[in-house]
Amino acid sequence: MIIKPMIRNNICLNAHPAGCEASVKKQIEYAKKYLTKTEGKTPKLALVIGCSSGYGLASRIAAAFGYGAVTVGVSYEKEPSAKHTGSFGFYNNKTFDCEAEKAGLVSVTLNGDAFSDEIKAKACEAVRQAAEKAGIPAKIDIVIYSLASPVRTDPKTGIMHKSVIKPIGAPFSGKTLNMMDGSFGIAEAEPASEEEILNTVKVMGGEDWELWMDVLDKEGLLSQKAYSLAYTYIGPELSWAIYKNGTIGKAKEDLERACRDINSRFTAQKKIKGAWVSVNKALVTRSSAVIPVIPFYVTCLFKVMKEMGLHEGCIEQIVRLYRDRLYTFDGLVPVDSENRIRIDDWEMRGDVQEAVTSRMKIITPDNVFAETDIAGFKHDFMEVHGFDVDGVDYEAYVDLDAE
Ligand code: NAD
Repeated sequence: MIIKPMIRNNICLNAHPAGCEASVKKQIEYAKKYLTKTEGKTPKLALVIGCSSGYGLASRIAAAFGYGAVTVGVSYEKEPSAKHTGSFGFYNNKTFDCEAEKAGLVSVTLNGDAFSDEIKAKACEAVRQAAEKAGIPAKIDIVIYSLASPVRTDPKTGIMHKSVIKPIGAPFSGKTLNMMDGSFGIAEAEPASEEEILNTVKVMGGEDWELWMDVLDKEGLLSQKAYSLAYTYIGPELSWAIYKNGTIGKAKEDLERACRDINSRFTAQKKIKGAWVSVNKALVTRSSAVIPVIPFYVTCLFKVMKEMGLHEGCIEQIVRLYRDRLYTFDGLVPVDSENRIRIDDWEMRGDVQEAVTSRMKIITPDNVFAETDIAGFKHDFMEVHGFDVDGVDYEAYVDLDAE
């Protein structure tokens, strides 16, 4: 099969194996170049929940190829069939495992629902097996919780909860940019009901992160010097009505609540070294193109940050997180007044935000291609799915069975 991108309503329905492979390899090279293993300081065993793409994939790559860690990864990805490609995460995982093996690094990847008790039990078993294979104690040094999911089935009740991206209290109306053709539209959303808020918190809040920590503790798999991290986004005020003050923001508040809980139950008891929520930069991942306002803001943000020499992708962000925040020279973890790690610091810099706000005001359909980085946004979106990657022959036949 010759694989061409299938895009419907800003969602890409397929993936290119060779493009995903090239993209993962690029991230591996970056991590190798900018991180250095330090015996006794950097992690030996990492568990990454949501390991197949975006921030989770970068976190796994950085732990393995930057620090030489054994990694166990959990994600939920679609395998290829005779007629359909697998999801990009499937090919990312495959490349990761293949490159790890070549580099002599132990890695185990599990495909299944991270919210279920079953996959948690399997992950514990995989951690033990991976540690045994590598000849190290089965004690996890870093737990990364990087799930982004639209649904969650609660293992206790069996009820499936669905998250929504909606404002709270008042309707939302905002300018949206279609990154495929540069056209503008108005996105409108009615305020969420109480039930929708609760459901979104159930899916994207911190309950499941805590369940993971409980299981790992019960199974004796946490190192006393372990870090546990989950990721969040805050962003500029212009997005707050739909993001920070909306349903997703409520879920992220719950993630911070869970973090405080984990610290009082685990860090205070000296079971781990600490848990943090890290605030990361806005980047293009699978769902970025469908959140109102975000594509317009991100295209202007990328333009400004590239002009200022401050632009970063997932791997650059995570390398900075590990090197300058977690595994620092003096062992201290710099945090803000709310005990959050900030690697969105460059995005939120006063001069960056001022330049982005002014730019957003002057953008029209006539200058959108010249004055924003819509091309960069689209490229990143395609690259996430394995398309538009340098050096890949997109006219070449791909045997999906072999893949
Ligand atoms: P992503 O879509 O690239 O990755 C999500 C991961 O979760 C994938 O590995 C996927 O397989 C996994 N997953 C989803 N449902 C699952 C399930 N039921 N079981 C097992 N695995 C499952 O997402 P991302 O953009 O990297 O986001 C990760 C985290 O980072 C989220 O908490 C997000 O809010 C946060 N964040 C994202 C951005 C951004 O701009 N993308 C910015 C700041 C923070």
